[in-house]
Amino acid sequence: MIKTQKYYDFMELFEQSDCPICLMRQKWAHEFIDAFLYEGVNDKQFRKIIRDNGGICRRHAYDMMEQGDPLAHAILYSDLIGDYLQNIDKKKKNGCLICSKEEEADKIMYRSFMTYFTQDTAFKQKFADTKSCICRPHLKELKAMFKKNKDMIDGLYAVQIENLKAVKTHLDEIVRKHDYRYAHEKLTDEESVAWKRAVKLMVGR
Ligand SMILES: [Zn+2]
Ligand SMILES: [Zn+2]
Repeated sequence: MIKTQKYYDFMELFEQSDCPICLMRQKWAHEFIDAFLYEGVNDKQFRKIIRDNGGICRRHAYDMMEQGDPLAHAILYSDLIGDYLQNIDKKKKNGCLICSKEEEADKIMYRSFMTYFTQDTAFKQKFADTKSCICRPHLKELKAMFKKNKDMIDGLYAVQIENLKAVKTHLDEIVRKHDYRYAHEKLTDEESVAWKRAVKLMVGR
């Protein structure tokens, strides 16, 4: 097994409280958008795909706007609004260039994650020790992708279930410590972020 940069990135992301796959995907999208704003926006082929789609999806459009770059946006949106003005009611395909690239990148990322998880003891151990959790939508996607490798999925489920129980314990502690009888007990660092973490784990990003 070759340890690529992804291996080390995952190992680092396990230390954060959010789903490591969501975080890795955000990292990918950030880098892709950066490159797109820097040079992709001058690519006529890319711009034509975006025009034919009527733009990019809401999530990626906002991500891109937040990453800044007035010039790149002016080039892209002048093109889009020019096309829109030609026929305001024209139906578009409603696809998203970044979504389709993201889907391809996701598949490669899922494969790397599962390979490391099943073939590298240190990787699996760190996932267990840091109580990292995969969000519900990503777990479902991993299960669908590796449905023929039951052992792989069972191995992941075993650790994931233990880690999820730890999150539930934190949540139950928040509730307990809100009781006036225990109100003098302070929330731990993990407990104080557990409620937000729980939301993200159940719905994904
Ligand atoms: Zn996720
Ligand atoms: Zn999109």
